[in-house]
Amino acid sequence: MSSSTASKLDRLVGLTTAKHLVRRLAHNDHGIHAILLYGAAGTGKSELARLITELWLCTNVSDEGADGTCRACTAFQRGNSSDVLNLDPVGNSSIINVKQIANDNIREGDPPLPLLKFFRTPPLMSRHKIGLIFDAHRMNYYASNALLKTLEEPHPHAKLILTTDSVGSLLPTILSRCLAVACEAPTVDELRVAFPSASDDEIRLAEGTPGRLTHMEARREVYARLLEFARRLHQRHPGEALAATDEFASIADSLGEAAKLNARAADAHALDALATFFARESYAPPAWTHLIIEAHRRILGNGNPTIVYDALFSAMLGSK
Ligand SMILES: [Zn+2]
Repeated sequence: MSSSTASKLDRLVGLTTAKHLVRRLAHNDHGIHAILLYGAAGTGKSELARLITELWLCTNVSDEGADGTCRACTAFQRGNSSDVLNLDPVGNSSIINVKQIANDNIREGDPPLPLLKFFRTPPLMSRHKIGLIFDAHRMNYYASNALLKTLEEPHPHAKLILTTDSVGSLLPTILSRCLAVACEAPTVDELRVAFPSASDDEIRLAEGTPGRLTHMEARREVYARLLEFARRLHQRHPGEALAATDEFASIADSLGEAAKLNARAADAHALDALATFFARESYAPPAWTHLIIEAHRRILGNGNPTIVYDALFSAMLGSK
């Protein structure tokens, strides 16, 4: 299998506009220093960000884009390129703070290197240095303002790639200095071609995004149980609420194990999936969605899952 940018692009589902941009960048980057990829979770933004990173790092670019095999490309694929700096959100509130962007008081050897300092020196083995900011909406106000500095006076070797699924949360000044590229979800037909064994229910549960479908296909058994539970729910009697609670709690447990989520995240994810399922079922009373959202809120507020589910399914089965 070829490892060039062009062949990797072919393997991504949908993303027509964004793919077009990457192909153009392969020929000439027109002095673009910063790209912002935005769109719903699961559309492939991170994958595209990695492709553009490789394209800008590669020392052997052709019409096919990066070769995927030179020293710069392979170091990046192994995750140890010294020319790439990944800014991950930190702390309990998952914020990208100003110290990660600019910190002149940093001592030698103090990890992590702030972005502005990283950009100050030329690349070691690649064509450019790349700053990668996934979930750029997690930058706080001070971090965003510090980032503006590098966007206004970029070093010729410095390139910045941002992704977000919440483009409205970014400062307008950041937006206006980046080339903003929409990463749209593929059409249902494109998804059917890319995932021939996925059912309509699975595509719906994945909200039409390839990332979520891939995640679900790797955990098919537990999602099949969840779908079966959701399909049967409206046929159940109010007296079956406790049984529904036990069944749903067990599905959420398995989901947590399969997706390596902690118990609360697994409960929240299972409820999310249930809400997504019923949102488009015409027989489902509108009150159901509100009940599920309320249960979701209580789970995130540390509610006891058994009590939350009992209340939820009693109310749902009693309100048909
Ligand atoms: Zn290369």
